[in-house]
Amino acid sequence: MEKHVAKWWDAAENGMTVCKLCPRNCHIASGRTGFCGVRKNQDGVLYSLCYGYPVALQVDPIEKKPLAEYLPGTKTFSFGTYGCNLNCCFCQNYHLSRGVYDDQRKYDYIGPEVIIELAFTHNCHSVAFTYNEPTVFAEYAIDVAELARKEKLGTVLVSNGYISPEAARELYPLIDAANIDMKGFSEEFYSSMTGSKFHPVLEAIKYYFSTGGHLELTNLVIPQKNDRDEMIIAWLDWVDKELSRDVPLHFSACHPDYQYDGPPTDVETLLHIRELARKRGFHHIYLGNVFIPE
Ligand code: SF4
Ligand code: SF4
Repeated sequence: MEKHVAKWWDAAENGMTVCKLCPRNCHIASGRTGFCGVRKNQDGVLYSLCYGYPVALQVDPIEKKPLAEYLPGTKTFSFGTYGCNLNCCFCQNYHLSRGVYDDQRKYDYIGPEVIIELAFTHNCHSVAFTYNEPTVFAEYAIDVAELARKEKLGTVLVSNGYISPEAARELYPLIDAANIDMKGFSEEFYSSMTGSKFHPVLEAIKYYFSTGGHLELTNLVIPQKNDRDEMIIAWLDWVDKELSRDVPLHFSACHPDYQYDGPPTDVETLLHIRELARKRGFHHIYLGNVFIPE
């Protein structure tokens, strides 16, 4: 595999590197990778292992991202790599998020130009950074997004919002439409269910919104974990105060996966949450992963 020197890191004592791409700020010894598994210190230099090596490539309807109000009815050329900077116990893509590149295997290099060509070949209107967490392949996403802008293709980010301000300042202005997760409106939820901190996600969402890109938000609703009225209402109040009631909101049903073996979300819960949001003046509300007869 070709090695790509990473951005956003500092050299430290004894050949250590400190990655500054996300709020984890991993201190990485030579020969080791950071928490996400795709940024490696080799002899005091930090490399991105995933640049140019997508492990999932697919043409998707834009609605599947989910984005309900950006280029509706179009296709988006979607790709992701291994690695994630969170460890959600309910991850529904854990084979990618917790996957690692195998030194013994040969992977095809798919550079930014090829991604753009593939998008055009498949009549897509945009490229989407998705499936695993795109923050961990931010260098690759930036190079693809810059080319996409030149070629008048849209750029889509599906993210957990766990990114450092300095990396966000380079990536987010290149993004035309983003769907960012709000996993549960509390530090306690982020700590116990995702192994991360909550506050940086709010800052990233606010920053992306300030760039003027199209924003939609997703909340995966997990029974008895993040579905209490008080938590949902606190989140709605935050969106109203810091963003806008015009931001489309997606509430999705959870099903048992990875380490989560609790019950799936029932339809009544999602309908109740939709009603809460409507009563507070939100009108762009979408329910996901459920079938609701009209
Ligand atoms: S991007 Fe990866 S290596 Fe860098 S700080 Fe975050 S988890 Fe650690
Ligand atoms: S942020 Fe997304 S991809 Fe990463 S562990 Fe959580 S659910 Fe999985």
